[in-house]
Amino acid sequence: MIEERNNLETCLAINRLFGDHRPISYGSILPVEIPPEEISRAQRFFHGKEPKTTTLSNSLKKRMLTLYDGKRCPTCHTVIRYHRGIKFGHEIADASTIEHVIPIAIGGSSEEANLAVRCNLCNRASGHAMNEWLQQFKEEPTWDSARRMILYLWLETHDITMAEALYPQLYYTFMRKKEQLNSKHRRGD
Ligand SMILES: [Zn+2]
Repeated sequence: MIEERNNLETCLAINRLFGDHRPISYGSILPVEIPPEEISRAQRFFHGKEPKTTTLSNSLKKRMLTLYDGKRCPTCHTVIRYHRGIKFGHEIADASTIEHVIPIAIGGSSEEANLAVRCNLCNRASGHAMNEWLQQFKEEPTWDSARRMILYLWLETHDITMAEALYPQLYYTFMRKKEQLNSKHRRGD
């Protein structure tokens, strides 16, 4: 299995060569680009040098949901629908939702670079998996664990096949949560 930490180190090193303006390109190593400012933000957050982000703006949220209406969820490829003006729970699985790729709880921002539009089911399952992951730490996760989670979440949102290949444990937790939500839905809870 590829050692993801080395990948991240390599990519950060490559990125430094080109200066900070170039997004981290995993090229043939990983097919995602993680905005370097998001990683550094999360890192500053971990060291107590950055506050939790504020909530995301309503206009940005509406703009993104409108843009992605009728497109496919990047994780499960379900066609997603923008349910304007409706409050919904888990029952509308294909509703489009805005998601912080790096969750606010581990230092993600509410900037567009850190947002993704996914189906309600993937978004919720990911949130549940994240909570389970957080619960394993007695206090706070270490930066090393958090960084690993950040890379996984980026893959989960942008390249699920690679997420499964590199982080099978985290991937299976996510899939288990999806299945639990699905059966809850089938039972009509
Ligand atoms: Zn989905």
